[in-house]
Amino acid sequence: MSELVYIGLGANLNNPYDTIRSAITALSTLADCEFVGQSKIYASKPMGPADQPDYVNAVVALKTSLSAHDIFSLTCQLEQAHGRTRNGEHWGPRTLDLDILLYGDNLINDDQLTVPHYGLKEREFVVFPMLDIDPLLVLPCGTALSDIAKTLAFNDMNAI
Ligand code: ATP
Ligand code: CA
Ligand code: CA
Ligand code: CA
Repeated sequence: MSELVYIGLGANLNNPYDTIRSAITALSTLADCEFVGQSKIYASKPMGPADQPDYVNAVVALKTSLSAHDIFSLTCQLEQAHGRTRNGEHWGPRTLDLDILLYGDNLINDDQLTVPHYGLKEREFVVFPMLDIDPLLVLPCGTALSDIAKTLAFNDMNAI
C-alpha cells in the first residue's frame, strides 16, 4: 500500500533558502519514500507577526509506504536537525517548518495530526506550490486545487 504525501516547507531564519534546499534533499532521500516532485521555491510574506523576516516556501510530493504518523515523526526529526526550537510564539520565526498537507485521500484527525492540513485552502504559499507539482490535483473533498487558487492572490509570493 502506498500513499502520495504532500509536505509543505517553510523557513525564515538562518539562510532559509539553503535550509529549504537541504530539507528537500533530505525528504527526497528518506527510506521507504520515493520522490515524486517538488515545487518551485518561493519567497513570501510572513503570516501572523509581521516583525519577522520573509519566508522561503516550497512543497514536496513523495510516494511512501510509511504511515502518516511515521512521516510526522520523521518531519519532526528533520525540523530539529535544522535547528527548530519552539518558543511558544504562534506563527513566530522558525528555521524550518514541515507540515503534512495531504496523505493520499485520507482524512486524519487525532491528537497529533489533522490531514488535510487545516490551513491548506487559505494559504497561497501552499496552494500555488502544490499546483506546480500537479496542476490537476483534486483534494479529498472533491474540489480541484486550481479552483481554490482562483480565490487566492499570488501577490506577495515570488519564485526565487
Ligand atoms: P500551522 O499549523 O498553522 O501551520 P505551525 O506549523 O507553526 O502552524 P507547529 O508549531 O509547527 O504549528 O505545529 C503545532 C502542532 O500541529 C504540531 O505539534 C502537530 O502535532 C500539529 N499538527 C496537526 N496537523 C498537522 C499536520 N498536518 N502537519 C504537521 N503538524 C500538524
Ligand atoms: Ca505551518
Ligand atoms: Ca508545523
Ligand atoms: Ca488512500
